[in-house]
Amino acid sequence: MTRSVYIAHTGGTIGMKKTANGYAPVRGYLDEVIRTMPEFAREDMPTVVVREFETLIDSSDMTPSEWWRIAQDIRDHYDQFDGFVILHGTDTMAYTASALSFMLEDLAKPVIVTGSQIPMCELRTDGRDNLISAVLLAANYDIPEVCLYFHDRLYRGNRSQKVDANGFHAFDSPNFPPLAEVGISIEVNRSLLLPGPNKPLRVQQLNPPMVGTMSLFPGINAGIIENFLKPPLQGLILQSYGSGNAPSKNAELLRVLQEANDRGVIVVNCTQCYRGLVDMNTYECGRVLMQHGVISGYDMTREAALTKLYYLFSLGLDTASIKQRMQQNLRGELTHPG
Ligand code: ASP
Repeated sequence: MTRSVYIAHTGGTIGMKKTANGYAPVRGYLDEVIRTMPEFAREDMPTVVVREFETLIDSSDMTPSEWWRIAQDIRDHYDQFDGFVILHGTDTMAYTASALSFMLEDLAKPVIVTGSQIPMCELRTDGRDNLISAVLLAANYDIPEVCLYFHDRLYRGNRSQKVDANGFHAFDSPNFPPLAEVGISIEVNRSLLLPGPNKPLRVQQLNPPMVGTMSLFPGINAGIIENFLKPPLQGLILQSYGSGNAPSKNAELLRVLQEANDRGVIVVNCTQCYRGLVDMNTYECGRVLMQHGVISGYDMTREAALTKLYYLFSLGLDTASIKQRMQQNLRGELTHPG
């Protein structure tokens, strides 16, 4: 039986055309390109339905409202298709993939976010390969996860990050191997995949709380963090040094963290390193953070930690439960130190 894939086009470079003001998304264009691509007329290609969002956006304009529209769209078409491809700008693609991984609870089918660095209207576009491979993976492989496909690699969505503003190898998954590699053959590493659910899909809307991210740097003034942590802030992703370290001799900094913790602000320690995980037990400079109420983000990306905070707050949980679940593995987004 012919497989079928639902393609939702949200915007981004892949469907952009040159305008007087630079590349911008153009309605109807990508739909037409896909309809006229000979690849999609082949018998071994799944049937695709393309739905363009009413307003196509550069992904820098992506917000949780658009995530909700995408999630609802998947839910509304869930039973009719074997898999889903979301065409999206690369700039915030990893945030969207992370957010959807939490919003789509008990997902049993592949949802693959992809896009391109060069638009489809250009000769050297990388969009063609990304689109075709993403569609084939979504149609033919039993991958019950939100993924990100780019440049021959399928990544777990909530492990992915944009790592190159210009190159074709624009994404990576620093703390988790690719789920699949696409070469002469398509190799899916099944041992890495999440187990399929035994419940029907449920979709959770995100009502973003007041949260933020901040990176430590030598010479940081405790007053900056104090201002940042002031009400109404509810949570902070603190990007610390190395395996989760902060200046332990800065008594003021520790005081403001403690006071924030006492007010119920959730401070999550993620490393500012590209790879590796937070273990606050390793150094005195990490342990003091733990002693002042900071919780571990382990090896979560900034994108995963932020969208997970959105998700847990949106479930209406109390502070203790949010802290507990932030440190649990919910969708394959974190690894505990072994
Ligand atoms: N600014 C574009 C976007 O994120 C970049 C891209 O799609 O590659 O929508």
